[in-house]
This record gives sequence, structure tokens and C-alpha cells, in this order.
Amino acid sequence: MRKPIIAGNWKLFKTIEESVKTVTDLKSKVSDVKDREIVVCPVFTCLKSVCDALKNSNINVGGQDLFWEEKGAFTGEISASQIKDTGCTYVIIGHSERRQYFHETNETVGKKTLAALKAILTPIVCVGETLAERESGKTFAVIDKQLRDGLGCLSKEQAGLIVIAYEPVWAIGTGKVATPAQAEEVHIYTRKTIANMFGQDIADHIRILYGGSVKPDNVSDLMGQKNIDGALVGGASLEAESFAKIIKY
Ligand code: PEP
Repeated sequence: MRKPIIAGNWKLFKTIEESVKTVTDLKSKVSDVKDREIVVCPVFTCLKSVCDALKNSNINVGGQDLFWEEKGAFTGEISASQIKDTGCTYVIIGHSERRQYFHETNETVGKKTLAALKAILTPIVCVGETLAERESGKTFAVIDKQLRDGLGCLSKEQAGLIVIAYEPVWAIGTGKVATPAQAEEVHIYTRKTIANMFGQDIADHIRILYGGSVKPDNVSDLMGQKNIDGALVGGASLEAESFAKIIKY
């Protein structure tokens, strides 16, 4: 059995005060949830305060990115162990917004994933095709390349420790959610690729989340698919009420 993960990506939103208020609200709404993992990913400046506010709760905290070097002359960057030091246990890697605006490549995704694992953070590695790639029939080829070039540097043991998020770029922040069948098709393909790369046992237990316009009213249908093991939620995770509804799908 794969325990579902519902993770919220807060992108570039919220002050420290707003973040703490949201998680304090959320904590009381989902304190009874035991059969799924819950994660919130605020901006770097809020991590420590949010981790402190969530101590002894059932909500985990993650960063939205990291740099692969441990320390050095890399102005503006933040390392895996520095994220870990705030109390985080997860980190998002290779989000399409980072690929699109900050030159993230499959190679840097691989380096960041290794750095996260070294710091004992669970990486949530994002993959997904653009609309143009989908419309030209390249979805599987894009996913295949992102997985092989991004995760090919991992050992089998390391691969068993990661989470993958399939996030079609055309569905992120657009309100245009993939149908459960469209998402399931890519999740099946992703699991098969992981089986080819690392073996069937790893593929059987790796969790593959869907992300892209997940809302309280569409989450249950998505989660009803056999190969969808959770959700990475952007906009609808910003308010405690809607995120709690998604968590309790
Ligand atoms: C995301 O930021 O990963 C995301 C899926 O955003 P949204 O839910 O707003 O589409």
C-alpha cells in the first residue's frame, strides 16, 4: 500500500505571519487525518516559523527548491542541509516554474535530488509536458527524458526514497485540470519507466503525485485512479479551508 501524500506548494505567496496563521488554521482542521501524509511548502523565509508552529502535528514542511552545493561562494542560494536545519523534511525539485524561469534542467534536477537525499530530505521531483508537447504527441517522450536524464544518477536504493509529481505544465495555475484518465495514463507510463530504470519493486512502492489545478471538487476523481498516489496543489493550498477539503478528499 502506498500512503497518499497531499502537498501544498505556496509558491511566492505569504509573509511569515500569514504563513503561520494558515498552518495554525490548517492544523486544527486536519488533526484527525492519519492515513495520508500532509506537506506544506512555504517560501524559504517562512520555513523556520512554520516548522515551529507545526511541531508535534501531522503536517510536514518542505522547501520549494535548493542548491546542490553544501556551502561556498554561491550568493543567494540555499543548501539542502540549511533547509533541513529549519525543521523541513521534504523539498520540491524541478518544478516547471523553475524549469521555465530559472533555467532548471534535467541535469540540475539530478544534482539537487542527490543533495536532498544526502541531507535526509524527501525530494518531490516534478516532471510534466507543455501544451505544445502534448499536442504534438510527445508527452511520453518528454516524461521519459525527464525521468532518465534527471534520475539516472540515482542508485536503486536512492530511487526508493523519492516522490515524483506529474504536473502537466498546461494544467498548472490554469484551472484546466487533466482528466483522471489523462493523468492515470501518464502515471502508468511513469511507473513503467521507473520499473525499467530501477526495478519493479521500486516502481510498485514509489509515490507518484498529480499536480495541476487540483481543487476540492476534482481531487476525489483523481485520487480514485490506481496509480495516483497524492496531489501537489498550488493555488488551492493557500487557504486552510480549501486545502483541508483536498486533504480530506
Ligand atoms: C503547482 O504549483 O505545483 C500547482 C500544481 O499549481 P496549481 O494547483 O495552482 O495548478
